[in-house]
Amino acid sequence: MSTAATSLPDRKAAEAAELALASDASSLEVRARRMRQRRQMYIGQVVSYSLGASVLLLYAYDGTVSMAVPSMFWFGGLMIIGTFSVLSESGFGDQFEDHYLTVFQISAHTALQLAFLLAVPTVGVAFISVLFLIFAFGSLRMTSGQAMITWSLATAGLAFVFLASDLPIGLPVATRLERTASMLCFVLVIGQCAFLGLFGSTLRKILYRRSIELKAAYQRIEELAELDELTGSYNRRCIMRLLDTEIEMSRQASMPCAIALIDLDWFKRINDAYGHPIGDEVLRTFAITIFANIRPTDCFGRYGGEEFLLLLPGTDGEAASRMLERLRGIVADLDWSAFSPGMRVTISAGVVTLRDIDTADTFLARADSALYSAKAHGRNRIATG
Ligand code: GH3
Ligand code: MG
Ligand code: MG
Repeated sequence: MSTAATSLPDRKAAEAAELALASDASSLEVRARRMRQRRQMYIGQVVSYSLGASVLLLYAYDGTVSMAVPSMFWFGGLMIIGTFSVLSESGFGDQFEDHYLTVFQISAHTALQLAFLLAVPTVGVAFISVLFLIFAFGSLRMTSGQAMITWSLATAGLAFVFLASDLPIGLPVATRLERTASMLCFVLVIGQCAFLGLFGSTLRKILYRRSIELKAAYQRIEELAELDELTGSYNRRCIMRLLDTEIEMSRQASMPCAIALIDLDWFKRINDAYGHPIGDEVLRTFAITIFANIRPTDCFGRYGGEEFLLLLPGTDGEAASRMLERLRGIVADLDWSAFSPGMRVTISAGVVTLRDIDTADTFLARADSALYSAKAHGRNRIATG
């Protein structure tokens, strides 16, 4: 089978496959990033439960609660964290928008605190203070709807403990060690809440920076869509749009408007003699030279190949011819031998001014026939039409 040419459907299929692969790769990347974020969160939770269990250990050491309380609290926390870690590692959460399964996590941790509040009411305030921490964590991820659900659940649980029972919920402060443990309860919860707050503000800063980067990237895309890749001048689509605008504005303001179609002379010979890459360099240098010698209000774009369109708003025929003559001289006098000894580059141009009956098409056609006349009269010259 011939491999000389790939058919269009084949190419389209290959492009689609490439796109699919790219989106697969990016979704894999997203999954890996999410997984890393969840792991960090679970490590933070283990640290948090360990700190809580240490405080309970102080109470247990003082005899306020049984020795089983700190270890059960720690294991209870670890059981919840372990369950969600398994779900996380298996990728279960990835199918949901909230891949952290925040509502379920908050509900589970809240239920654990309420269970301990019921079981060990003498240090109940310690477990209630952990609820602040749980909700501070949740506020980083929850929607307002989810916050309402979890808050209602916590309210129902607290109402049950406070109103449906006579349990003496308290925070022991009878001994020095109890006072120390109770103080640590608050100190640790406040510290962790502050840490979560800082984490949230860091996230916001990152998001803000990303949005600025995104804006810059979008602007660059827009620029690229308007510019010719090789010469940096406007591309054909853009210069044609600008031509329409210029015609309209000149008519509205009753101002003259001139255009010039510029073509490099014998450019095929330059390519043939020095090679296509040098031809590209010549085009680039030519464009830079034009940019350096036109006014900020003039628009210069690549019409196609080695043909360029220059829009000269507010310029009459005489001024436009003078300007093009000056550009022609500058290009002809440039030291092109830097590219290759003996190289010479010249341009021809057709200059026309807007007439009342002109459309963009007839305006361009007149410039084209003026250019043709310049070529016919020997090149390296400007013709008006
Ligand atoms: P004329 O004076 O009549 O305009 O002669 P010419 O050789 O310039 O015109 P012709 O239309 O015969 O050839 C134009 C050449 O421009 C042919 C094409 O390969 C070359 N060309 C068009 N675009 C590019 C480009 O992007 N890079 C390079 N290196 N060459 C280009
Ligand atoms: Mg040419
Ligand atoms: Mg040409």
